[in-house]
Amino acid sequence: MIRNFAYVKTGSIAEAIKALGAKGAKLHAGGTDLLGCMRDDVIQVERVVSISGLKDLKGISAKPDGGIKIGALTTIAEVAASTSIGEKYLVLAQAAAEVASPQLREQGTIGGNLCQRPRCWYFRGDFHCAKKGGDNCYSVDGENQYHVIFGGAPCFAVHPSDTAVALVALQAQLMIAGPSGIRAIKIENFFIGPDKSIEKENILAPNEIVTEVQLPPISGKARSSYRKIRARRAWDFALTSVGIVLQFENEKVSKARIVLGGVAPYPWRVEAAEKLLIGKKPDGAAATAAGQAAAEGANPMRDNAYKVEMVKGAVEESILALA
Ligand SMILES: Cc1cc2nc3c(=O)[nH]c(=O)nc-3n(C[C@H](O)[C@H](O)[C@H](O)COP(=O)(O)OP(=O)(O)OC[C@H]3O[C@@H](n4cnc5c(N)ncnc54)[C@H](O)[C@@H]3O)c2cc1C
Repeated sequence: MIRNFAYVKTGSIAEAIKALGAKGAKLHAGGTDLLGCMRDDVIQVERVVSISGLKDLKGISAKPDGGIKIGALTTIAEVAASTSIGEKYLVLAQAAAEVASPQLREQGTIGGNLCQRPRCWYFRGDFHCAKKGGDNCYSVDGENQYHVIFGGAPCFAVHPSDTAVALVALQAQLMIAGPSGIRAIKIENFFIGPDKSIEKENILAPNEIVTEVQLPPISGKARSSYRKIRARRAWDFALTSVGIVLQFENEKVSKARIVLGGVAPYPWRVEAAEKLLIGKKPDGAAATAAGQAAAEGANPMRDNAYKVEMVKGAVEESILALA
């Protein structure tokens, strides 16, 4: 049962920031994750502060530098369908198309997708787990087949967002509005692991709002892709996913970004794999070596060693598909 809460529909970003300053206040965009968390009593919210009517935060447009900006309230369906994103930033269009179900993509926003809470069954269930202020992460001795193979402790839940993986691969930047104005942050520095903060998954203060996602200009010769492996074809979160952006000069890789999803508490960049590709044609040998390198340092739990092999295969296949 959902607890009683006050509902504030705001008319401006400034109004929303002010309303978020109240005790127990939480931002509402599309509500597809927030309301589920409230219904399941994962978080206790006294005041729902809705920004869903703020037109300034909606839409996709070109930036003067040749990049693209996406308002935080742009739906995931719009991102998936955008031709300007599909033409130059395919990794993002593909990731958005892989999110949840058509209904959720129509309602869920890009800002909400980045800020959604983890899907760990202990966190979402009736367990007073470490993320909810308890002493234990129950996945350590419990059911951990969907948990991290990189970078856990003291919480071992994976980051659930598909678009976050693509945006880290694209070196996107986020605009964040707060009481002291607007700041820009590289998306890579937005997400934080449980070693830095167990209660939240990003650097946002409670009264800060992601207002925009900015994509930098990208060479017309860049190729990118998002590959998601999941247990079933219907809506499901990634067991493992890979976002790749490769830039080419004379058919050889000049720049590479390889980011993994579903395996770590935040999008997991694999620089060792990226470096192996530089100056090479992405042939079978290079792709296999990059796949091996991507899995280096993995520390699987009792039931999720299968993800190590998935990482190797998904990275290798994705590189070959882009070659
Ligand atoms: C059945 C189901 C399946 C799903 N499958 C997938 C999947 O396969 N892949 C995937 O990536 N996601 C998946 N999701 C998650 C879904 O994509 C998110 O629920 C959605 O993207 C959240 O967007 P929203 O606008 O509804 O956010 P809301 O529910 O409104 O908000 C989510 C969280 O983000 C915060 N927030 C929202 N917008 C902002 C902002 N602009 N600035 C700061 N904080 C903000 C809210 O306070 C809240 O904590 C699934 C969800 C469900 C229910």
